[in-house]
Amino acid sequence: MSNYRRNITPEVMDEESERRRPSNSKFDAKNYLNVKLADGENEKTLRIRLLPVDKNTDSPFKTIYMHQIKVSPELSKSGWKSYVCLKHTEDIDHDALGYDCPFCEMNKEAYDKKEEAKKNHDEIEEKRWKEISLQNRHQEVCVMRCIERGAEDDGPKFIKTNVRSDKKDLKSLIIELYKLKKQESIDEAMEDNDGVLPKGFVPENILDLDTGRDLMLTISRVFDKEGKPTNKTSISVAPYGKSKPVSKYDDELDEWLNDDKVWSDVFVAKPYDYLSIILDGEVPFYDKTNGKWVSKGRVRDEETKRQIAEENEASDKYRRAKEKALRRDREYEEEDEEEEERPRKKRRDYDDDDYDERPRKRRRDDDDEDLPY
Ligand SMILES: [Zn+2]
Repeated sequence: MSNYRRNITPEVMDEESERRRPSNSKFDAKNYLNVKLADGENEKTLRIRLLPVDKNTDSPFKTIYMHQIKVSPELSKSGWKSYVCLKHTEDIDHDALGYDCPFCEMNKEAYDKKEEAKKNHDEIEEKRWKEISLQNRHQEVCVMRCIERGAEDDGPKFIKTNVRSDKKDLKSLIIELYKLKKQESIDEAMEDNDGVLPKGFVPENILDLDTGRDLMLTISRVFDKEGKPTNKTSISVAPYGKSKPVSKYDDELDEWLNDDKVWSDVFVAKPYDYLSIILDGEVPFYDKTNGKWVSKGRVRDEETKRQIAEENEASDKYRRAKEKALRRDREYEEEDEEEEERPRKKRRDYDDDDYDERPRKRRRDDDDEDLPY
């Protein structure tokens, strides 16, 4: 007879807890390279090694488009948040999300209104719509995937950078460094070989997975003219250490290269309705009953209105009760008019506590409540 009996074993539980979460499920800090500075921190360095941006490409860069929007502090401490542009970004679930983007729509509407104002020589309106248009334009963003040195166990991490026209963004800096190192290696080889490139010469590729180099990122806080710290940071990149493979272990590198996680699992595109609420400067809230996104503020407003209505109703009841009691008091007064000995003070001091002390026979019927007083 076998001793085997089915059971929920620790092994099964370990396996379950290790199981990869379905994509889009939950925020996991390990998925992101943390380039943010903590409060009071003015500089930090991170060592990384770039990987191809997903398992289906050799490129380290993925171009997406985002809108950087001022949001409620409830959503972001800095007051700013980036949202994937549903119109311009490829490789998102357009079947589910569509191609309409509320920010792009606002950008277009504001642009048209700006042009109209310009025609009408209305400078104030022109300026106003221009600003709104700019606030809602889509921006090119580059996503990269890397291994963070010292945190290899976390697996691949994603990082995004706004592509800037002044080329001070991480993508442009990495491309510059790649080109510089390549040129340097060519120049040196030629110098060592009487001005000609040796046969079969391979220039340095700083991003090569086997012979490339780690990169050191330095993130520094930007200070304003008065020397006060701002929320902005700048970034610089330098090669770190000698040429070496991403991982000493081939199977580990394979695992990293073939990791299923893609950029859209970590920078999740939000649906149109959600973004519309953001555009209105509100906080989205998922209404499970109706299966849709609603504005938390509006829910709050409605709740407040309901509360006020309830309070009003309660105070109405209180008022009516008090009026009723007052009426009784008056009746008392009228009936007892002749009774000079009745202390008037007592009536003046009438308060809630007296209510129940009133003789019950004096109480009016409830249906008198609604009589105009
Ligand atoms: Zn857009």
